[in-house]
Amino acid sequence: MPTKTYDVIVIGSGPAGYTAALYAARANLDVQVFQGFEAGGQLMLTSDVENYPGYREGVMGPKMMDDFKAQAARFGATMRLENVDRVDFLTRPFKVWAEGEEEPTLARAVIIVTGAQAKWLGLEGEQRLMGRGVSGCATCDAFFFEDRGVAVVGGGDTAMEEALVLAKFASEVTIIHRRDEFRASKIMLDRVRKNPKITIITDTVVEDVLGENSVEGIRIKNLKTGEISELKVDGFFAAIGHAPATEIFKDQVEMDDGGYILQKENTMTSVGGVFSAGDVSDKRYQQAVTAAGDGCRAAIDAERWLEEQGEAEGAEDPGVWTAEKDTLAKSA
Ligand code: NAP
Repeated sequence: MPTKTYDVIVIGSGPAGYTAALYAARANLDVQVFQGFEAGGQLMLTSDVENYPGYREGVMGPKMMDDFKAQAARFGATMRLENVDRVDFLTRPFKVWAEGEEEPTLARAVIIVTGAQAKWLGLEGEQRLMGRGVSGCATCDAFFFEDRGVAVVGGGDTAMEEALVLAKFASEVTIIHRRDEFRASKIMLDRVRKNPKITIITDTVVEDVLGENSVEGIRIKNLKTGEISELKVDGFFAAIGHAPATEIFKDQVEMDDGGYILQKENTMTSVGGVFSAGDVSDKRYQQAVTAAGDGCRAAIDAERWLEEQGEAEGAEDPGVWTAEKDTLAKSA
């Protein structure tokens, strides 16, 4: 039996992936989503999402991702939880191997939405108290630390930005940096130094995050003196950079030095028919709403590209409003 070729394979999930799947499926394309074992992406690690338009009272990150998934599935996008561990974009149809499978799944177009993950220090308490005082996103969670003490680890622009966001809510923000020189830009460092709520501790590493059911403090070590001490805080923010999840796409599509996938023409990568959306290509905004918008753009670009290739006969332009189509149908 000949192997089925999907119109579009979406690799990854999260707001960009599910939105891309929704738009592509609603355009009558045959869509397979490989959600990955961490289906839903970083929002699965977030508690209340209060800055996604449309949710008046806010929404829990996992609930929101469930809604996104269900909406895409309603229009026929099929979902598989497997990770993808290999791809071949050098020949068409494109080949995508789910982890542990010998036979590839085939597609005429691919949308990469594997996201970027906050890097973590790898401490035991960090994993255990994730979402209970440990966070990798101040924009998402700063609000929960009103009048509380928090620690931020890192010496780059991300750490400075996280500290400044947190200082709007928290009573005290302590930046812990392992050296006494900073990668952060001068302007960001100056802003931090001028903020009376922020203290910087240099030449110091965090050895563990303490607390039973929520963060109660951190154990730190001064690298110059060897002195170990405890700092009482209610929140712990790792801000040591983000890493895009693009390992399997090396040698397939062009990336920048940080491993982010380059979009060459709108959302299309260096390979015609392969598109990217969301944090995997965006190191600037990295928000759920921007990722969702980007997923929509990638699906529209994929559908139009397929039509140009004459490879999506049943497809409708996903950019056309339903209301407009209804009007056309009624007047016909
Ligand atoms: P970054 O510049 O690479 O800085 C990462 C920081 O984390 C460094 O200070 C590094 O220490 C520290 N670090 C890394 N691994 C660590 C570990 N295991 N333990 C302790 N500390 C660790 O990353 P970034 O701050 O995310 O910035 C990435 C890029 O985005 C930069 O180009 C930045 O300018 C840009 N960005 C810009 C803005 C803005 O302009 N508003 C905001 C955010 C990011 P060392 O210095 O000792 O290596």
